Amino acid sequence: MPDNVVSNAELVKKQRTQFNKLQKRLRRETGKAIADFNMIEEGDRIMVCLSGGKDSYTMLHILMGLQKSAPIQFDLVAVNMDQKQPGFPEHVLPQYLDALGIEYYVINRDTYSVVKEKIPEGATTCGLCSRLRRGTLYSFAEDINATKIALGHHRDDMVETLFLNMFYGSRLSSMPPKLLSDDGRNIVIRPLAYCREKDIEKFAAFKEFPIIPCNLCGSQENLQRQNIKAMLQQWDRQTPGRIEHIFSAMQNIKLSQMADPALFDFSQLQIDRSGERKVYEFADDQTIEGKPANAAVQKMDVLNL
Ligand code: SF4
Repeated sequence: MPDNVVSNAELVKKQRTQFNKLQKRLRRETGKAIADFNMIEEGDRIMVCLSGGKDSYTMLHILMGLQKSAPIQFDLVAVNMDQKQPGFPEHVLPQYLDALGIEYYVINRDTYSVVKEKIPEGATTCGLCSRLRRGTLYSFAEDINATKIALGHHRDDMVETLFLNMFYGSRLSSMPPKLLSDDGRNIVIRPLAYCREKDIEKFAAFKEFPIIPCNLCGSQENLQRQNIKAMLQQWDRQTPGRIEHIFSAMQNIKLSQMADPALFDFSQLQIDRSGERKVYEFADDQTIEGKPANAAVQKMDVLNL
């Protein structure tokens, strides 16, 4: 066989190595996010929300892996909400979860009809749809005594949301890795907060998860989000690393360098000249011209009038 022809066995070996590296990276990043935000504690019962998309399958898989090696004990319960969208393949998730052998529930709630009835034709349906879904999941979490609700949003979702809120909502906010619900009754966690979407995509393809299409509701994904996604993908191609930098910036906020008086009290800033003044670089090179008025000028090193 010529040297440049890769045998099937070598190809399989190479793919296996790539997969192992990818899985390790996703586990490491998920583990770090969980630790950084204290997402999972001893005795937690985590309700893992499964939509049938690549992100939630990956989240469940990685959490199950971590559960085996974690120094603490916690439970995982998979929950899918069947919103009765036309063509939703009802059998796919139960079949998959039965084979996994974990505790799971499917909530049947026809939010699709509610949304169709309430929202005029052509208007965006996502706002009401996600509110109904959130309400249902929050109350179900209480019904099954879940202490945390895990969602499959990843780093790219969080960066997208940051720009979405900035461009269309005039506010600097995103999806936090951990969130206490407004009524204080639930905590939402996003264990994939440090994972890149392209890694999740590759992982889902390797694992051949039975993906359920996400356009069954017939609603175009929010146009504004699509625009932001396209912009970020272009940046990522042109300047690799930019998404990581933006995400790092989300974790490194200097309130005194922003402009929100509600978060930083600019009104109370006071000068303090009691300490020794630091010597500025190249200060000797400067000359001063002008006409001092009485005692306003107390000390000048070089006065060249
Ligand atoms: S895309 Fe469809 S299912 Fe998703 S939030 Fe919007 S209306 Fe609901």
